[in-house]
Amino acid sequence: MATGPPSSQALGTPISEFLLSSGTSGGDPKLIPTVKDELDRRQLLYSLLMPVMNQFVPGLDKGTGLYFLFVRSETKTPSGLPARPVLTSYYKSDHFKKHASNTCTSPLAAILCADVFQSMYAQMVSGLCQRHRVVRAGTVFASVLLRAIQFLQQHWEQLAANIEHGELSPCVSDPAVRAAVAGILQPDHKLAQFIRTGCSNGDWAGIIVRIWPNTKYLDTIVTGSMAQYFPILRYYSGDLPIASTKYVSSECPLGLNLHPMCDPSEVSYTIMPNLAYFEFLPTDGGVAAATELVELARVEAGREYEVVVTTYGGLSRYRVGDVLRVTGFHNAAPRFRFVRRSGALLSVDADKTDETELQRAVERASVLLRPHGAAVLDYTSRVCTKTIPGHYVVYWELTATAQQGGVGTGSVDGNVLDRCCLEIEEALSYVYWVLRVVDGAIRPLEIRVVRPGTFEELVNLAVSQGASMGQYKVTPMRDGLGRHPTS
Ligand code: AMP
Repeated sequence: MATGPPSSQALGTPISEFLLSSGTSGGDPKLIPTVKDELDRRQLLYSLLMPVMNQFVPGLDKGTGLYFLFVRSETKTPSGLPARPVLTSYYKSDHFKKHASNTCTSPLAAILCADVFQSMYAQMVSGLCQRHRVVRAGTVFASVLLRAIQFLQQHWEQLAANIEHGELSPCVSDPAVRAAVAGILQPDHKLAQFIRTGCSNGDWAGIIVRIWPNTKYLDTIVTGSMAQYFPILRYYSGDLPIASTKYVSSECPLGLNLHPMCDPSEVSYTIMPNLAYFEFLPTDGGVAAATELVELARVEAGREYEVVVTTYGGLSRYRVGDVLRVTGFHNAAPRFRFVRRSGALLSVDADKTDETELQRAVERASVLLRPHGAAVLDYTSRVCTKTIPGHYVVYWELTATAQQGGVGTGSVDGNVLDRCCLEIEEALSYVYWVLRVVDGAIRPLEIRVVRPGTFEELVNLAVSQGASMGQYKVTPMRDGLGRHPTS
């Protein structure tokens, strides 16, 4: 469809564009077909979010939202249709311009600026100038909210100087953005001083409520791979409630959280049956059993399923890749907890690196060890989010290779490992590359070489704790998600 004639014969309605999903397919983002009225369905879901929130948090109509929203530059498919991420498509739509853009502190021109730095800068300065009006703050995914805080940590001096003089730095050069911010930014010595005092002492605990004191909750997804960011968000937000309000994907919108003020570990989403046709593959011990599909109305509480969608855009019985657990019912509609992305091993932002991709990348990098007479004996990996943005850490145990006459692992120095890091990164997906290089949403990958015998000790430990020697395998260490190597 992307390379052929522009309209599809497979559907009654022509394909209007392709959405670039972060779910990777052989290293490239998938192109998800969509149709025009899919935006109406997305809008339907979004328009329900505030009525639900209003049931739990009073006074939200008295202020505005501090939302950091971004678009990416788009391309065209050979058939002439736009290819862009779903959020870019939504923010550029009339739906967003009409319904949502005037309910947040960020000017539309700043949101629509594809230069991430300029966009973030303009959105931050606008948010600071309107700090008393903000009653809710967020981003779609938690990782982006943390990047906004990091941006403030890095640029508060310049931001304060701009507010002092009522003029934006030349680093924001986009004329439309400058014009939009000019309507908000006034010389304000008191505010500039407030920002300097608040940011200069190095104490960032509760910074969100200190700068935006009327914020009642954070609106950002902290389920799934975003759960790793929950503790650090609590730190920055001074324990504000965090609402994970929606469950959405490029394939189709899926559902919303009808109890948004619950603890993040308790979040469940109610799937709306009018957004697509939803079916479920029961998963057995983590693997989707090739049995019959179960309809939405027939899923059973307590069981886990992989979600399968038939969409208005033309996907037929398509496996999204998400595993969900039924936690109960809202009237007759089942509620689902997000359990995991099937196959995803490492994820910092929208990237989802699976085992095969990492294996291929490690193999490519380990070729660089050959001239040094070394090889990778065993490895594991994890995401480190101690610093924001997070990064991948790959643990290697090296061994000397006989072919090289045992030159040994000693000659594998920092330079060699640096080149191995780059080689791994180059072998990872296109989505990883964009987030790492273009957006700066992922820090450089790190290889840590462990002592010889470490992995054997790990096996012995697992076996001493009752694991089967024959079945033992090292799994990634996802400390952010509270999981550790298991057998
Ligand atoms: P994309 O394909 O880039 O649109 O990303 C969609 C994917 O993001 C979904 O299939 C999920 O894996 C993940 N996702 C979206 N919303 C949530 C949520 N509320 N909780 C956990 N994961 C989510």
